[in-house]
Amino acid sequence: MRKLILLALLAATAAARAEPAAETPILLRPARVFDGTTMHSGWRVLVKGERIVAAGSDVTAAGAREMELPETTLVPGLIEGHSHLFLHPYNETSWDDQVLHESIALRTVRAVTAARATLMAGFTTVRDLGTEGAGFADVGLKQAIDEGIVPGPRMLVATRAIVASGAYGPKGFEPGVEVPQGAEEASGEDVVRAVRRQIAAGADIVKLYADYRWRPGEDRRPTMSEAELRDATAAAHDAGRSVAAHATTEEGMRRSIAAGVDTIEHGYGGTKEIFRAMKDRGIALCPTLAATDAVTRYQGWDGREPIPATVVVTRTSFKAARAAGVTICAGGDVGVFAHGENVRELELMQDAGMPAREVLMAVTSVNARVFHIDDRVGAIRAGLVADLVAVAGDPSADIRALRRVRMVMKGGKVVRE
Ligand SMILES: [Zn+2]
Repeated sequence: MRKLILLALLAATAAARAEPAAETPILLRPARVFDGTTMHSGWRVLVKGERIVAAGSDVTAAGAREMELPETTLVPGLIEGHSHLFLHPYNETSWDDQVLHESIALRTVRAVTAARATLMAGFTTVRDLGTEGAGFADVGLKQAIDEGIVPGPRMLVATRAIVASGAYGPKGFEPGVEVPQGAEEASGEDVVRAVRRQIAAGADIVKLYADYRWRPGEDRRPTMSEAELRDATAAAHDAGRSVAAHATTEEGMRRSIAAGVDTIEHGYGGTKEIFRAMKDRGIALCPTLAATDAVTRYQGWDGREPIPATVVVTRTSFKAARAAGVTICAGGDVGVFAHGENVRELELMQDAGMPAREVLMAVTSVNARVFHIDDRVGAIRAGLVADLVAVAGDPSADIRALRRVRMVMKGGKVVRE
């Protein structure tokens, strides 16, 4: 059901495209093709209109325009699992100042440039997990991209996201004075109302904060009750939307798992038991290693030994999740660091011990499956949308090859060559 709704949303996207893709078929000839699971030498890929019509070693097409891509690997359009197109790096402007002092118009213009940078880096789809105070502007940005007004990735949007009343920020003002907040506050039955309001306004995904710091400098604690999480998740699932839960504490994760959410974001506090439960319930982890790495560098870390404790925790939990067999989604919390630098997360996953081929699967076919869009994107096979990226070298040997983008195609149209 959820998949059907997402497919309908993405189909509407394609129908709304301003210029139809050229109908002359294109035969792509890279050195090798990663189809989402397996690497194939000598494969060719035939694209007609917005779709892949054939992929294999014996594909030919009379009258097709041939695109030679020597020494490159063709991969499915990359899928960012955790972005905030409406944030820009905190070393430019603090999160508080972005939320408090930047107008929605300014933030939307920035988001347009962020969307373009994301697409040019080979990320043809993003799951954007909250505008952080920019209201429902993500819904409009998504529409502008779908209508061909501005270049950008396909978007799954969460709109405002939902936090427990009083739990989020910015903080530090006279009690009772209303200041802009980074997400929609709700408690008790109103959490369900917030879920429904956001879906009605355009949310493809519901983002819930299961825990947070109640005040700056404090440890993180659970914010929503298990009942609030459960009722919100049920309301989202009734509407065919999946739920992403921000959870960094063991108890926040435990409640999220019990509530039946679809993905857990960050998950730094996960234990062996927690990760085993995630595995059993089929809940994916989006580890966001790059977010902590970036924030720690903004605080002065130069990347060398000794590794700060905050960074060690993220690497340790990532390894524990992998050891437990948890499905790993690829998503870096990009926005905390620069849009277009999305590959940073993949490099850190590789550096933390995940083989490059598995990282490549995570950012293509696994993300597509976890986000219920695998009938459209995330692989190279006949019938799927032609979101394709050519990179120099072999990213299954070293994921850093994904930085050497030579060509980006979205929906059968070359957007970077
Ligand atoms: Zn985030």
